[in-house]
Amino acid sequence: MRAIAIAGAGLAGLTAAQELRRLGYDGEISVVGAERHRPYRRPPLSKEYLLDRDTDLNLAGTEQLDVTWLLGQAATGLDLTGRRLHRGTLPTVTFDGLIIATGVRARTLPGTGDLRGVITLRGLDDARALHAALATRPRTVVAGAGFLGSEVAATLRALDLPVTLVESAPVPLLRPLGEPVGTIIADLHRAHGVDLRLGRRVIAAAGAGHVEAVRLDDGTVLSADLLVVALGAEPHIEWLRGCRLRLDGGVVVDSHGLAAPQVAAAGDVARRPSALLGGDLIRVEHYSNAIEQGTHAARALLGIADRFDPVPTFWCHLYGHRLQAVGFTGAGHHPKLVASEPDGRFLAEYHRNGRVVGAATVGFLRRLPAYRRLITNEYA
Ligand SMILES: Cc1cc2nc3c(=O)[nH]c(=O)nc-3n(C[C@H](O)[C@H](O)[C@H](O)COP(=O)(O)OP(=O)(O)OC[C@H]3O[C@@H](n4cnc5c(N)ncnc54)[C@H](O)[C@@H]3O)c2cc1C
Repeated sequence: MRAIAIAGAGLAGLTAAQELRRLGYDGEISVVGAERHRPYRRPPLSKEYLLDRDTDLNLAGTEQLDVTWLLGQAATGLDLTGRRLHRGTLPTVTFDGLIIATGVRARTLPGTGDLRGVITLRGLDDARALHAALATRPRTVVAGAGFLGSEVAATLRALDLPVTLVESAPVPLLRPLGEPVGTIIADLHRAHGVDLRLGRRVIAAAGAGHVEAVRLDDGTVLSADLLVVALGAEPHIEWLRGCRLRLDGGVVVDSHGLAAPQVAAAGDVARRPSALLGGDLIRVEHYSNAIEQGTHAARALLGIADRFDPVPTFWCHLYGHRLQAVGFTGAGHHPKLVASEPDGRFLAEYHRNGRVVGAATVGFLRRLPAYRRLITNEYA
């Protein structure tokens, strides 16, 4: 293999390029990125960065990496037969091997496109806009109490800004962590002064050029200067339509991480089978997965990869607490609290077919490695 193209200059793409070089691959690597920035750390964007714009977002080794950066222009099409990546009107990139790592985009709220003060948060440019907006000390509505919305609400409270957090489910984080944990997180938000509106949807925002009011589905109108839309994300796959790869809620890869011969996918965009979940396809939108799958994608292209089926892990920060999880922690995996303290610390287990498949905690971090071993052994 003499030329590898990587579509997506994010964490998974960077890690794949680094692993290729670490393994001694000395051919060309071209990294095509839609953003004008080299890869950076996204997690601080909903946390420290909103408090301090000087927060270091650098990913180690990016500057020294021997690759051709083709930034500021998205890949717009893929010719699998001709082994070419299209970039609008710019010259195509030819390759022998390809890694697709185009991540996800934030869902938007229909009808709010022209209104200033309506912000989604996915990349550095979004975070800069949000940071600038916070300087005016706005009354903020956050639509969606998933990880991102919950973190943004917590960070705004750290700045002592008024926040209304609107969530359509009965508790925050219901889908990724289940009802018992969601109830604890709801209490945490309320204890920190968030006006939490559960079982409600944001349906519209209005104002003369700039958002002034946000309407909920029960007719409530909230006065607001800023609406942060945190309604989840969708994989960047539209540019691959018609190219014979299997696209089904992401780029579907096999158990070795390949979407086609010499074509791998990694990170938030990739959907892979999970043995622990009986072969179900999963797409994981977490930092550690982007690193592990990016590394694996490089090995898959070089023909030295095993099955890719790690136990996922993730963390988030809320009000000075580190929430950390291992395995599969969704609402559908029978969540059960095995410890719950009045100060918000908890430990929850998740089960499938009578086996533990996940655990999540605030405050019982030292219990997680044992769960990880237990879940890993379930694979064996
Ligand atoms: C604000 C925020 C906070 C987060 N906090 C946490 C956390 O606390 N814990 C955790 O585990 N995870 C967290 N995550 C998730 C984590 O950052 C992601 O899982 C990780 O960045 C995924 O890496 P990736 O390379 O797959 O995608 P990305 O990092 O999104 O990179 C994909 C890149 O591809 C580019 N792209 C898209 N389409 C094209 C195209 N057609 N051509 C070329 N380039 C394209 C995108 O612009 C982007 O630059 C957070 C994410 C965000 C946004």
